Amino acid sequence: MVDVLTKKQRSYNMSMIKGKNTKPELIIRKLLSSNGIRGYRINYKLPGKPDIVFTKYKLAIFIDGCFWHKCPKCFIEPDKNKEFWKNKINGNVKRDKKVNRVLKKDGWKVLRFREHLLRKDPDQVYRRITKELIIRGFNDN
Ligand SMILES: [Zn+2]
Repeated sequence: MVDVLTKKQRSYNMSMIKGKNTKPELIIRKLLSSNGIRGYRINYKLPGKPDIVFTKYKLAIFIDGCFWHKCPKCFIEPDKNKEFWKNKINGNVKRDKKVNRVLKKDGWKVLRFREHLLRKDPDQVYRRITKELIIRGFNDN
């Protein structure tokens, strides 16, 4: 990739990518496994590369980084290379929508969570996932 970022821009960008400490997909995996929920796959090959996939229940879960997926609450437009970022981020948003359509058409249920929600209220994310699993036949007995 062409090095279009200034140093300041890059550090802003890296902080957005890395988050504060834990990777969001690790937060959710910990929550699931500590509650005895297993049988999900990571790195399962589906359009859009969902973070967590329950193949048995056709449930695909995405954790969307607030910067990369233009979270209406958190997204701040970088003040440099505006055009580059605008194209990049809008491209991501467009792709997200397309991925949702494709998966839905194939019978998948798609859940998307914003990274900030997962960090702020992981229980809410957990409840929504388990609710969806139960709807789709999950039984933890
Ligand atoms: Zn956000």
